[in-house]
Amino acid sequence: MVVVVFRNLLRFLQRRHGERIYPPAGADGTRTNYGSPLTTTAAYRCPDKQNDINSRALYDSRHHHGDAMDWSSSSSDTIWTSIKNAAKYNYACVEPLAQSTNDHVHADWRGICPTGW
Ligand SMILES: [Zn+2]
Repeated sequence: MVVVVFRNLLRFLQRRHGERIYPPAGADGTRTNYGSPLTTTAAYRCPDKQNDINSRALYDSRHHHGDAMDWSSSSSDTIWTSIKNAAKYNYACVEPLAQSTNDHVHADWRGICPTGW
């Protein structure tokens, strides 16, 4: 029940902001490829929340477009690489480790990835 209410609220907010319906198609496949549950640390953010976190990233972040996920990689390069590979296998753009940290993997499904993603 809570999940249904949350999903309906999310769809309402995304329609209000003209965004995509969440979750991105590759998220489930990434979990399947990884082979065990992933801990989600970020997903959809409404533009107001994104602005609260980092106003500079408001128009750069894929989180407010509804096509991005962050998963915990427990500050492990090995886990980070495994999650990255699982996401890439599902056609994700993955933020390079050098631009992020090894505490999470940012993956999104924007379509055309930036160079090096
Ligand atoms: Zn992210």
